[in-house]
Amino acid sequence: MKALVHDGQGSISLQEKPRPQLQLPTDAIVRVTRSTICTSDLHIMRGAVPRALPNTVLGHEFVGVVEEVGSGVTHFAPGDRVAVNCETFCGECYFCKRGWVNNCVEGGWELGCRIDGCQAEFVRVPFADNTFTHIPNTVSDESALFLGDILATGWWGARIAEIEEGSTVAVIGAGPVGITTMMCATLAKPKTIIAIEADPYRAKLVQDLALADHVISGRAPLTDIEHRVRKITCGRGADVVIEAAGGTNTFEMAWRIARPNAIVVVSAMYEHNQVLPLPHMYGKNLIFKTGGVDASGLDEVMALIETGQLNTDCLISKRYPLNNILEAYRVFENHEDNCLKVVITPWE
Ligand SMILES: [Zn+2]
Ligand SMILES: [Zn+2]
Repeated sequence: MKALVHDGQGSISLQEKPRPQLQLPTDAIVRVTRSTICTSDLHIMRGAVPRALPNTVLGHEFVGVVEEVGSGVTHFAPGDRVAVNCETFCGECYFCKRGWVNNCVEGGWELGCRIDGCQAEFVRVPFADNTFTHIPNTVSDESALFLGDILATGWWGARIAEIEEGSTVAVIGAGPVGITTMMCATLAKPKTIIAIEADPYRAKLVQDLALADHVISGRAPLTDIEHRVRKITCGRGADVVIEAAGGTNTFEMAWRIARPNAIVVVSAMYEHNQVLPLPHMYGKNLIFKTGGVDASGLDEVMALIETGQLNTDCLISKRYPLNNILEAYRVFENHEDNCLKVVITPWE
């Protein structure tokens, strides 16, 4: 089969690989019908993800059809359409029992990082019973595509932010994760959502989609951004800040625009260390919650897709068959033509 492999030194290539086989009774084999490229794939490609293994098939955001299941898989059968969680987890360890599946002692984020991922024709998925979500007949593959990663991340970020009804939520970054975060934050009924985004196209998009009440340009000096947020919030700062950008100054922005005792969720993935200037923060009494996503409870999110309360179709900018995935990477990495997400369709 064809698969996209990275060498750990900044190069990716389409290669011929053997079709994956079941290895454990809890495994399943999926024929990939739609996959996509995530910014984390770029981080891996650039060698910025220490736990990633080279010569692995990239990709962890996809949907497909179950081809084969191991004897221990009871909830899914060949022919089922499934959305696949970016985290494969046992469901039984100390962390899984508490919902912290990202730290599962037997799994977590493995697909496309430590084991072969989904930018291929077929993929082996561990712990299929925990990792799959059924796609209802009324939901298309593309509408379910983002469930297991960016939508899960938006859902998780909004949940751990403990958003109160009537509060003010600031979301830094209006890329794919920032947008899903705003969509999920809206469900908690805050009074105000403030979006901060440096890219004018993305800033306008969240305005046009009515995902934010205020949109502030992330290109403004930090002091101006802080001032704007204070003006919107009676001088206090945002009740909740979710940092989904991972830019050079967005971590500092996050704690500066937060009100005292705010929850600051960092779902962004950085390529460099960030500074936590505790003397400047002293007395602000902030609560930081940091990524990566614990992608669990996705049946609930799928139900919101099915009823139209969550719709991520606006994120899809372009489609490429697996044959042209190198071009898709180039366009996605450079945000060419304001690209948000690319969809990879099967090999032609
Ligand atoms: Zn991802
Ligand atoms: Zn576990």
